[in-house]
Amino acid sequence: MAVRPITVIGHKALHSPTKKVKEVTEEIRTLVEDMFETMEAAEGVGLAANQVGSRVRIFVYDCPVPDGPNARGVVVNPVLERLGTPPPLEEEEHGEGCLSVPGEWFPLARHPRARVTGTDLDGNEVVVEGEGLLARCLQHETDHLDGYLYIDRLTGPVKAEAREAVKDRGWAADGVLRWDPSETTADKV
Ligand code: ZN
Repeated sequence: MAVRPITVIGHKALHSPTKKVKEVTEEIRTLVEDMFETMEAAEGVGLAANQVGSRVRIFVYDCPVPDGPNARGVVVNPVLERLGTPPPLEEEEHGEGCLSVPGEWFPLARHPRARVTGTDLDGNEVVVEGEGLLARCLQHETDHLDGYLYIDRLTGPVKAEAREAVKDRGWAADGVLRWDPSETTADKV
């Protein structure tokens, strides 16, 4: 197993849809093991395959939920259902962050509940349903696999603020397209 470098906004793999997985090969199993290790090293709650540069429709998650152990697993070919109505943006207490936009947080109203269906590595059906942070995570990770970053969904002044932050960090423009969570932390990229 190995920690893989994480792609940063501007990297091509993050900005186009990933491909459906037709067969779970040894290569895919190794990718998923590495994704778990990379997510842990980066202290993330979820990680999509294109965040380590692999354009396949898979994400892993390890997300705190109230009153119990973390929700943790892998979903191959996830299909998302958004449930409920997003709250007004001003009621968002927590910002959303992303390992591919490291060290930045911006408020984004997400649907309060979400359900993802897909399969595990052995082809068994998987259903992950949650609210709060887990619902946010499920929406965030499937967005990645569709070729979108959460900051693509920001609106109004927050969107302008995010654009400015990305510019100030010099990502993409300076060719900073990956960071290595085994060598540094997201806040220091
Ligand atoms: Zn992300």
